[in-house]
Amino acid sequence: TLAVDCVAAPDAALIPRVPGLDDALFVSDGTMTKRELRAATLAKLMPMRGALLWDVGTGSGSVAIEWMRAARYAGAIGIEPRADRRAMAAANALALGTPRLKIVEGRAPDAFANLPAPDAIFIGGGLSEEVFDAAWAALRPLGRLVANAVTLESEAALIGLHKRHGGSLVRISVQRAEPVGRLTGWRPAMPVMQWSLIK
Ligand code: SAH
Repeated sequence: TLAVDCVAAPDAALIPRVPGLDDALFVSDGTMTKRELRAATLAKLMPMRGALLWDVGTGSGSVAIEWMRAARYAGAIGIEPRADRRAMAAANALALGTPRLKIVEGRAPDAFANLPAPDAIFIGGGLSEEVFDAAWAALRPLGRLVANAVTLESEAALIGLHKRHGGSLVRISVQRAEPVGRLTGWRPAMPVMQWSLIK
């Protein structure tokens, strides 16, 4: 037997390739897709070797980064109108080992023009009928589309799209145990409606 004295650095972190990384590993302004929901989102996007993701409303880049980490040669394009969030996505990509994340300035659907056809599309912001139609048309055969909604307005859009196009609609609520005074209670996050379908 081999005896090894193993001492972890005080700030050492485990960073697996399986999606659902700790939120604290990302720089974010609070609008980031949280860990449990991110894991559920990536499961439906199905990262595969060499596959391309469009991450619409990439924000902190968390979904695109986890996509790229999950499978070899996976590529991702993040589309984000806000410069401060594009900067966060670039910093996170560098820190988490996916510097090849491509970040595009612009808004869906206009920003889709001239991008290479994707194998999967995540719509985390800016969902509308028009954005869906353009995304669906661009998606390659057997492509996966996932859209998350937290507002009544975007939920209404998702319900309409689900009626017309099928797929699966789920609602995910997460509660975290947090301090309530000196005791502990469940702090609910906003419930998220998630629509997914395969082309
Ligand atoms: N998935 C991201 C969070 C997205 S928040 C993360 O994990 O960090 C939604 C984002 O969509 C915001 O950053 C917003 O600027 C962006 N957005 C809003 N409308 C958009 C549109 N039409 N096209 C692209 N991005 C859009």
